[in-house]
Amino acid sequence: MADRLFLSPPHMGGHERLYVEEVFDSNYIAPLGAFVDRFEQAVRDFTGASAVTALSSGTAALHLALRLAGVGKKDRVAVGTFTFIASVSPILYQGAEPVFIDCDESWQMDVGYLEEALKKERPKAVIVPHLYGQVADIKRIASLCEQYEAVLIEDAAESLGATFHGRHSGTFGAFGVYSFNGNKIITTGGGGMLAAQEREVIARAKKLATQAREPAPWYEHEEWGYNYRLSNVLAAIGVGQMEVLSQRIEKKRQIYTWYRKYMSDVPGVCWMPEIEGSRGTRWLTTCTVEGMDPVAVMRALEKRNIETRPLWKPMHTQPLFAGSKVYGGQKSETLFANGLCLPCGTAMEEADVAGVVDYWKKALT
Ligand SMILES: *Cc1c(COP(=O)(O)O)cnc(C)c1O
Repeated sequence: MADRLFLSPPHMGGHERLYVEEVFDSNYIAPLGAFVDRFEQAVRDFTGASAVTALSSGTAALHLALRLAGVGKKDRVAVGTFTFIASVSPILYQGAEPVFIDCDESWQMDVGYLEEALKKERPKAVIVPHLYGQVADIKRIASLCEQYEAVLIEDAAESLGATFHGRHSGTFGAFGVYSFNGNKIITTGGGGMLAAQEREVIARAKKLATQAREPAPWYEHEEWGYNYRLSNVLAAIGVGQMEVLSQRIEKKRQIYTWYRKYMSDVPGVCWMPEIEGSRGTRWLTTCTVEGMDPVAVMRALEKRNIETRPLWKPMHTQPLFAGSKVYGGQKSETLFANGLCLPCGTAMEEADVAGVVDYWKKALT
């Protein structure tokens, strides 16, 4: 598999192994330690988030955000339909009901549909996925959430480092969520981070993530929590990865421009847009091609050991969510029918991109 071109494989910066050794030397092979603190500090410094806590996954961070937002049984939560299942499953963990919102030409949440849903459904919270490294129209969404008194949770799992008018995704809402899963722009091999506006909220998140243990000499419990903290070993990898995040963003954007260059003669290609005033990371290079069958292209490229994948299958079309409420739906269905994610690991060079495009053109014709 050495020569396989993966979609977005891990790419270590160089210091990670050293930091993991430091963890071994300290023997803090535990869900706490100096590297957890350093990792949190690094994410705060980079994003400008007021307060954060490192967690075992982005999904765990979303779950805690919903719990802290007071979302419970029978509550409604508006969420983008064009996303990964992890944006939605925490709603089910809380016994709440997802209300799906379609995307628009930006491929991100349609603000018009969101407003309609806020009016009719009165959701307690709104989960906005920032997709594929790009940013949703977050300022308009934030002001609507304020108007309709819904808690705004930004699912920035795919968009760490992306900005809207200079401000980082994940720092607009009451809560922001990042992920460090294996295929994200940087990785700890599995991990997440919850950001919030207030330190007290994060202190509460930490408590819930630590089995809701009360401050007492013995194990005292007034409520139930979770085992959601991040290991110090993984946080050490995260500290090394944060050192190269800026480089990774520039490289992802570079890879995207290479794809554009080599695909420029293919008719009917549409690249994921970048909302005005925003700067995305192009975590994944994604596009649609008129009349393309993404699965056929995927299979053709697979024969060359090149990994590609269709765009997210909209949640409202998943058997799991049959009968759920959806506002719109057509736009995301069309994207799914014609779209593809291309390999864009940050170790790729221009010749690799040219090679992928070459095989792809052959597959399309
Ligand atoms: C990856 C991802 C998550 C979940 O993050 P994990 O760390 O894998 O739990 C949530 N939402 C979106 C949109 C993602 O892509």
